Parts: sequence; C-alpha cells; structure tokens
Amino acid sequence: MAHKGTTHTLNTGAKIPALGFGTWQDKAAQEPAVTIALNAGYRHIDTARIYGTERAVGNAIKKSGIPRDQIFLATKLWNNSHHPEDVPKALDASLKDLQTDYVDLYLIHWPSPFARSSEMFPKDAHGKTKTGDTDYVDTYKALEKCLKSRKAKAIGISNFSMGELERLLKETSVPPAVHQMELHPWLQQKEFTELHKQKGIHITQYSPFGNQNEIYDSGKGMGKLMDDPVLVEIGKKHGKSGAQVALAWGIAKGHSVIPKSKTESRIKQNLEGDFKLDVEDVQKIDGTDKKLRFNDASESFGWNFFSDLDGKKQ
Ligand code: NAD
Repeated sequence: MAHKGTTHTLNTGAKIPALGFGTWQDKAAQEPAVTIALNAGYRHIDTARIYGTERAVGNAIKKSGIPRDQIFLATKLWNNSHHPEDVPKALDASLKDLQTDYVDLYLIHWPSPFARSSEMFPKDAHGKTKTGDTDYVDTYKALEKCLKSRKAKAIGISNFSMGELERLLKETSVPPAVHQMELHPWLQQKEFTELHKQKGIHITQYSPFGNQNEIYDSGKGMGKLMDDPVLVEIGKKHGKSGAQVALAWGIAKGHSVIPKSKTESRIKQNLEGDFKLDVEDVQKIDGTDKKLRFNDASESFGWNFFSDLDGKKQ
C-alpha cells in the first residue's frame, strides 16, 4: 500500500512522511510490529544502533516486498562511535543489519561521546560510563562524508541544546536536515522550534506521547499526556482519541511524529493521528505546555544535556 499521509519537505528536497514508526524497546516484538506498521501504511521507520532493532526493521522491510525507495528509513550513530574514523564503520554495520545500501537519514543520537570501544556502554573501574573526547563537530563532519558516499541521503542530530546546535551551524558546512528531539504538548519548546524553522531544520518529535514510555521516571503519578482533558475534549469533536490528537498537533506544527507500539490496534490507531486539527484546536493545545521533559540522560552519559532548554531538571 502506497503512503497516503501528510509529508514534509526536508532542506535536501526529500520528502519525509509526517507520521513515522518508533522502534525503541521490545526488541523481540519489533519485526512483527514493523510488519504490521508497513502493512497498515507507515512509510517512515525510526531505529538506532543502540536499540538493537535494526535487523528486525531490515527483516520486516525486506519481507514486506515494498520497494526500498518508498520507505523513509532513519537510524542513529551511537556514542561509542563518535570518532571520525569510527563513523563510516558504524554506518556500514547499521546498513548491514538493515539490509540496505543507504539510509534516508543518519543522526548523531546524542552530542555526548563515550570512549572508543566495542562496548556500547564502556565503563571505568567504578562502573561509571567512560566518556570520550571526540568533539561532536568532528563527528558531524564525518557524517557529511556519509552524504558524499551516498550511504546517507540526509544527516542530522538528536538531543542537541540550543548552544550545541548554534556552534554546529557555525562550524560545519551542511545544515542538519533533521533534529530529532523530545517534543509533545507538555514540552513544546516554542523558542527552540522557532529557531529550527528559521534555519530550515525539520523537527522529528520523539516520545510524542510524553510520559507514556514506562522507562521514564519523572511524570509518574501525574496522569498520562494522552488523557489530558484538553486533548480528549478536542478528540471528541473529531471522533479521535487523545493520543491521536497529540500526534495531529505535532503534524500541524510541521513536524514528524514517531509513536511506538507493538499492539496492532494501537499501531493502526496511531496512523489515524494524521488528520487536520482546526486552528483553534492547535491554539488550545499550545496552552497546555508544562515544560516537562521526561528523557534526560545527563547523569548516566556524563554530559549536561539541554542546559539552555525548557524542562531542564535543576
Ligand atoms: P511514545 O511516546 O511513542 O510512547 C510509546 C508507548 O505509548 C508505548 O510503549 C505504548 O505503551 C503506548 N502507546 C502507544 N500507542 C498508544 C495508544 N494509541 N494508546 C495508548 N497507549 C499507546 O514513546 P517512545 O517510544 O519513547 O518514542 C517513540 C520513538 O521515538 C521511539 O520508539 C524511538 O524510535 C524514538 N526515540 C528517540 C529518542 C532519541 O534519543 N532520539 C529517544 C526516545 C525515543
């Protein structure tokens, strides 16, 4: 089934489907989940080296019989491979598992380097993450070379702060096509998203359902974003769920959203989150921002993430 949904255009000229499919966690469930997603009509799949789901994604794509050029496939470089010499090898390893010659998008997963290692989480003698000293600007320049080799059709970043992004733009020659970041109605990052618009950098919203991801400690006991009365009320008007409204809000902002689920009914339901909200609906949702960030790996990765952004834990 061909993609019928909304698409956005990247600064490379390529189209990215606004509604993609996330594949973090539940490794064993990912091949069937991606198969269901592709059959349902998703044409944008998000994975990462660290998720351990690239092979499952590759298998599902291959078995689907859908031509490769009809699928937008994104993966991410892990922190142990930031050294410029390691980048092409890391991409080759991802391509091998994904069983393809290229990715549509290759992202630096986090700006923070770990020590060069075959371990995903190299540790020091005290069991703490062994950090590295590769500058993310040098890592990004190595990604630029992946464009030249045509193994990545677009490159970008994830989890960068405003200062980190501004420095990258100053010191490199290819602006990121995409910045993948935590963004949802409870963490709207209005000033930061505006900067991206000005610079022509597309935003992909991860964790579009906010604190729904069970791994997140913060946000426990405060109710779910998808049950926010504003979202639910707007949903009733359109015959949609709060979850679908959260997705539609991101798409209305010109972003992509990449919800994850392993449950067939939810995978299908989420695809119907690609619908048009009324202007006043978007304005109402704009009023629900709580500046609440749920994913901050600063302590475990040994890097002060998001230091100049909304929702930074003090
Ligand atoms: P999410 O916001 O997509 O929430 C996923 C959870 O919501 C599921 O596990 C399920 O429990 C529940 N859910 C899904 N659909 C539902 C529905 N219709 N009704 C009720 N519950 C539903 O969270 P996520 O997995 O954190 O984010 C999505 C994707 O974003 C990831 O899978 C991954 O691909 C990407 N991601 C990237 C980064 C990064 O650092 N770049 C970080 C986090 C996530």
